[in-house]
Amino acid sequence: RAKVVALEEDLRKSRQEASNHQNLCHQLEKELKDLKDCEKQIMQKRSKTISDLLMSVSKAERQEARMKIRQDSLRLGNVGVIRAGTIISETWEDGQVLKDLNAYLKQLLETKEAVERQRKSLKKRQSDKGDGADTESGVHEEDLLIQDEIYKSRLASLKREEEVILRERDRYELEKGRLIREMKRIRDEDGSRFNNFPILNSRYSLLNLLGKGGFSEVYKAYDLVEHRYVACKLHGLNAQWSEEKKQSYIRHAIREYNIHKTLVHHHIVRLWDIFEIDQNTFCTVLEYCSGRDLDAVLKATPVLPEKEAKIIIVQIFQGLVYLNKRAQKIIHYDLKPGNVLFDELGVAKVTDFGLSKIMEDDVGSQGMELTSQGAGTYWYLPPECFELNKTPLISSKVDVWSAGVLFYQMLFGRRPFGHDQTQERILREDTIIKARKVEFPSRPSVSNEAKDLIRRCLTYNQAERPDVLTIAQDPYLTYSKR
Ligand code: AMP
Repeated sequence: RAKVVALEEDLRKSRQEASNHQNLCHQLEKELKDLKDCEKQIMQKRSKTISDLLMSVSKAERQEARMKIRQDSLRLGNVGVIRAGTIISETWEDGQVLKDLNAYLKQLLETKEAVERQRKSLKKRQSDKGDGADTESGVHEEDLLIQDEIYKSRLASLKREEEVILRERDRYELEKGRLIREMKRIRDEDGSRFNNFPILNSRYSLLNLLGKGGFSEVYKAYDLVEHRYVACKLHGLNAQWSEEKKQSYIRHAIREYNIHKTLVHHHIVRLWDIFEIDQNTFCTVLEYCSGRDLDAVLKATPVLPEKEAKIIIVQIFQGLVYLNKRAQKIIHYDLKPGNVLFDELGVAKVTDFGLSKIMEDDVGSQGMELTSQGAGTYWYLPPECFELNKTPLISSKVDVWSAGVLFYQMLFGRRPFGHDQTQERILREDTIIKARKVEFPSRPSVSNEAKDLIRRCLTYNQAERPDVLTIAQDPYLTYSKR
């Protein structure tokens, strides 16, 4: 009996101990939860402080941008409204600086014409004198020669002045182009439904609008988890589409972006994340490139020195080589200046894989069927993409052609085929189907090696055109210490 009592006592103690442990556990769990809550609160507070700070900086930037526009408008011009009956349309009205420059040019031209007229009549007098008609007037031949020299020298100085003014006007025209783009950006920012500094997906603090494309808006944003700047591209779906079509579009886009997400290369813009915002909108989160894109660079300076153009095209080819060395090769299919971005150090990065194609494993050297004909930017696409009588087979050679066009444009300030034509005219006139041979302007002077590379890239026949991996071996594209 004494044993039973002892055992019961042990049991009671053990139960007591177990209960104590349990209480301790509960207490620890509660403390842990409190700690986590506290940590979460601190994190939330920290995130809020960061996003508040970024928001006030961005607000100041917005104010400054609008002030600058107002100031620049006075010099360079503004959008005016004209009314014709019930139709209201917008026109551009040049500012005072451009008006003054144009007036000055007009005056120079009038003076030039007046001097030229005088010179012409002088020449007539000279020839009359030669015929003996003016011998009685007492005008010496030397006087006429001196007078002619005076006119010639005046014309030369007018020409110099005109050149200076034209250069100045070109500079202002560039500034005007920048102003118009900035005005558009600000108007797009004001009209955007994301302009109120939202935090997307509890993580991305949206700041200022970088630009707007056809169906997308790109915002500079701050990633509150990874603590870095990113570019958030907000893709809007067409509101007219049926729910089924929208869902299928999103599924397709997610498949495409999941591939882009796996691309990790120095010369390819990283895709960090993708998520749905609502039924009509989704967002891709991209590496932020703080430099200008190549399109903006070429608008400011249409011709680049060969050395600079070369290092850009070398980087683009390095990105393309990476795309072609993967198990699943990728055709970018939309290489153009706007899709080459620069980071703050000037490193070039290829972006926008919205039209890219994934080469399936069983595709032979001929290429794969092009199913989305009509997409892409025509100045940069090769002839095989315009074949209308059969579904064309395309391969990475599409990107080789586009890179050739890009390189040509950087060197000569114009595109090799259809430069002055609209996209619609390129299609209507079969410009690219007729692009059998590339011609080079005589100026600026460019090395023969560069021209040879362009000729190889712009080989008309797809079968004869080198693919990405072959063209990347071109000695012109390799840098090595001699
Ligand atoms: P898009 O719609 O792709 O043409 O882009 C619209 C604007 O956003 C252009 O001015 C681009 O230069 C800019 N942009 C696009 N992606 C990025 C990025 N990853 N980093 C910085 N700016 C970008």
